[in-house]
Amino acid sequence: MVDQEHLSKQFIYGMQPSRQKERFCVTLEKVIFLDRDGVINYDSPDYIKNWEEYRFLPGSLAALAALTAAGHVLILITNQSIIGRGMVPLAVLEDMHRRMRRAVAEAGGRIFDIFYCPHRPDEACECRKPAPGMILQATSRHQIEPAAAIMIGDNTKDIVCGRSAGCGATILVRTGSGLKAEKELAEKGIQPTAVADDLTDAAEMILSGRMALKGSTTS
Ligand SMILES: [Mg+2]
Repeated sequence: MVDQEHLSKQFIYGMQPSRQKERFCVTLEKVIFLDRDGVINYDSPDYIKNWEEYRFLPGSLAALAALTAAGHVLILITNQSIIGRGMVPLAVLEDMHRRMRRAVAEAGGRIFDIFYCPHRPDEACECRKPAPGMILQATSRHQIEPAAAIMIGDNTKDIVCGRSAGCGATILVRTGSGLKAEKELAEKGIQPTAVADDLTDAAEMILSGRMALKGSTTS
């Protein structure tokens, strides 16, 4: 289901050349922020604690490869309170991410960067989603224009995070907690730009030009 209001607008990524000039910096365009668990891989109520427990969702590797091939810059934005809870050492999380990136690369995709929040919910940090902190860190580190970026997630927190950070579009996927989140968002009156069945469907929406960004120019 795609938001009809956005369908009518032309899909244009990135900043206008004049604005790029003003900033005197290289700006990453076509950025896609992705949640990890429930979007790229199966989630678990017991958390994903090591590479042995990490299983890609059907089609997700191919979707990441297709988005990469089309020039999209893929950045992971993931809450990993398992670190703050003392359940998993940081080295194990980083090993999992190294292996995940390798598997994505072998399938033809590229994860450009990964931002994770290690804190517990009670630590009231600024990075744990739904707070926009991780996306703001990413936009600052890589000179990304948030309005030219898309956030994809399976949780209400991902959609709220993407919107708070000023992303041009948000896509809720129905994998992971997606079905529950779809109801939650409707109850809260929050509408993602689009709802996709899974990452393959989301990628198809983006690659076919069926997504339009709020910040895009109508022509
Ligand atoms: Mg998730």
